[in-house]
Amino acid sequence: MDYKCEICQREFKSLASLHRHVKADEKTKLKDFYANILPEKRDLLTGEKIKINSNDQYWKKNFINKDNLYSWMRNPENKEKAKDICYFYLKEQAKKFSLSFSQAELYSSQLPDIDDLDVIFKEDGGYYSVCQNLGMSPRLTEREFSINRSPIEIMIDTREQTPFSFRNLKGVSETPASLVFGDYCAVPPHDGKLVIERKSLGDFVSTFSMKDSLNRFSREVQRARDEDYYIVVLCEESLPMVADVKFGACRATGIAALAGMRQTMQFFDNIQFVFPRIGFEPSFLAERILRMGKSIQNVDLQYLHDKK
Ligand SMILES: [Zn+2]
Repeated sequence: MDYKCEICQREFKSLASLHRHVKADEKTKLKDFYANILPEKRDLLTGEKIKINSNDQYWKKNFINKDNLYSWMRNPENKEKAKDICYFYLKEQAKKFSLSFSQAELYSSQLPDIDDLDVIFKEDGGYYSVCQNLGMSPRLTEREFSINRSPIEIMIDTREQTPFSFRNLKGVSETPASLVFGDYCAVPPHDGKLVIERKSLGDFVSTFSMKDSLNRFSREVQRARDEDYYIVVLCEESLPMVADVKFGACRATGIAALAGMRQTMQFFDNIQFVFPRIGFEPSFLAERILRMGKSIQNVDLQYLHDKK
């Protein structure tokens, strides 16, 4: 699957070369090419018209939502086509990114999740192997972690206005503290170098969709990295909720924030993001993660959480 000129049927390896060809050889404006020459993009499952916001999206978007993508891709009849579509997307991704996408990053892309990709690419050695062949280093691939079940003392940053309450959990005590990084952190002998940065939905979207706040956040991640801290950003909402949210008419959307998340994850090796499943209590997730400590730094937390 490549970029095809519908006028002469020639195929091109990159979008830029197709665009050059359309303008120079076909003497056609890109606007006309997309509006009048290329066929409308329709959802592969339902045939509904897909709203396209950019030229790039025309080639990558095949479904109006993630559920349609899963339903279509999981149908064995679509196996070959699904593989073509995923491979095309991953190849394009490899031009921009050097690390494989984690489960949370995959959610915000036009790709299915890790288990589905493993099925789709079974004959090629699975998802990570395809990433590696395309030049993206596999990351967060470990599935083993340790969990320390002994009594745990959790420090809660004093700036947290309505902190998680762990009091109902067995073997957990709470202490207010002034934390240098994150909002929650365990007291040794539990791993004190793993911190949880808790984000409400609004906070998540404003931090990661706005350039200035994203830069500010990145500087903090860098400082944490310099001091050997690992950050887990725990959003309070599920991924489907985040992906759907739009605040007013501004650029603060869940989709933009997830793009900011991907950028952060591609840049730093001391951070990952996790979103609770619908209806799952985020404080339970926080306690579990703090008990795991830095043993999770090569584990895909979102994958782990989605599996249970
Ligand atoms: Zn042509």
